[in-house]
Amino acid sequence: MHVPRVFIDTAIAVQATVKLDGAKHHHLRNVLRLKPADAVILFNGQGGEYAAQIDTITKQETCFTALTFNPVDREAPLYTCLLQGILKRDAMINALQRATELGVSKIIPIQTQHLSEKRAQLAGRWNAWRAVIEQSSEQCGRTQLPELAPLTAFADAVSAAQNSAFDLRLLAHVGASEAQPALATPPQRIALAIGPEGGFSDPEVTFARANGFIPYTLGSRILRAETAPAALLAHLQTRFGEFAEWQA
Ligand code: SAM
Repeated sequence: MHVPRVFIDTAIAVQATVKLDGAKHHHLRNVLRLKPADAVILFNGQGGEYAAQIDTITKQETCFTALTFNPVDREAPLYTCLLQGILKRDAMINALQRATELGVSKIIPIQTQHLSEKRAQLAGRWNAWRAVIEQSSEQCGRTQLPELAPLTAFADAVSAAQNSAFDLRLLAHVGASEAQPALATPPQRIALAIGPEGGFSDPEVTFARANGFIPYTLGSRILRAETAPAALLAHLQTRFGEFAEWQA
């Protein structure tokens, strides 16, 4: 039987009671129709997860007891920071879900020149994106949540990446023809920038190059903006991360 995983932003200890209210409590009660004695898995992003059971589930709240701690770690060893051009609502949700499943460490939503969302609508989006990341982490078994940075201007995010300790900075760009960089050692910390539906503007590509980003091709077809981060993350996990490589 499927045991639901629940992220709780609070301390958890074996044999201690944990309470949950709000939207998640309503989901457990009214959608999953959980009952006292039902099993759940709790995690709080501090590492590991807890086998727990429901003690009570009332209209207002669910109370659990954490029974055992499992120190499992399902985080990707490769550190990846995704600078993601802000996409239209559903496309952005898809991009965040896939990136979370593929083990991204940090996501910086970047405001690019070809912004397809109205600026006025952006303010309310961050909390929804955070909820998507949380739900994806619950679903795919992550034991830590990827960090979601505030909305950041493209130039600020790129400059900050240049000043951070990345071994490799890639800017996915349609038609990029740069040779792959020669790497002395496999990178352990990678920044990757993905453009919005309209792509990066020429000045943005020039600015990124001047700040250490290498324009990078993902093949000769144009991928949807929500496909591109998943494709590049999967490629990096194969080349430098936890995916097994085929031996020739
Ligand atoms: N017409 C836009 C252009 O030419 O840039 C298409 C943008 S594409 C829908 C959205 C983003 O996905 C791009 O800015 C890039 O970051 C990434 N992307 C899509 N296909 C790609 C490819 N074949 N190579 C590299 N990046 C790609």
